[in-house]
Amino acid sequence: MPTITGGCLCGRIRYSADAEPAFVGLCHCHDCQKFTGSAFAAVIGLPKSAVAVTGALKGFTKQGDSGKPINRMFCPECGASVMDEAEAALGIVMIQAGTLDDTSWVKPTSQIYCASAQSWVELSGEMKSFDRTPG
Ligand SMILES: [Zn+2]
Ligand SMILES: [Zn+2]
Repeated sequence: MPTITGGCLCGRIRYSADAEPAFVGLCHCHDCQKFTGSAFAAVIGLPKSAVAVTGALKGFTKQGDSGKPINRMFCPECGASVMDEAEAALGIVMIQAGTLDDTSWVKPTSQIYCASAQSWVELSGEMKSFDRTPG
């Protein structure tokens, strides 16, 4: 897999990673809808140790459904949602797929929190679907 690169809307935040994604998935939870300003989040899970970030992200931490905090990081200049980190999944950084330079390889294999998906969203049977989490 070639180096994964991406960044925010204004370009002040850039990241790169030399790693195979641990997962590619969608989340339909309300917090992800708020964070992305969209119907759902499409995220690439990467080992945190493999991700190098340039530029200063701002973080907002809120308790997730697991009861553990999720730190959601965005560009303080342009407001783009860039990545988040859940204490429930230590060591993994979830990159917002829309911030990748090359999205051609992105193919989500699972989706979570389908119970709160927006009504118009057609949930594909090709992905593993969970009402909440797989756990
Ligand atoms: Zn920016
Ligand atoms: Zn979510």
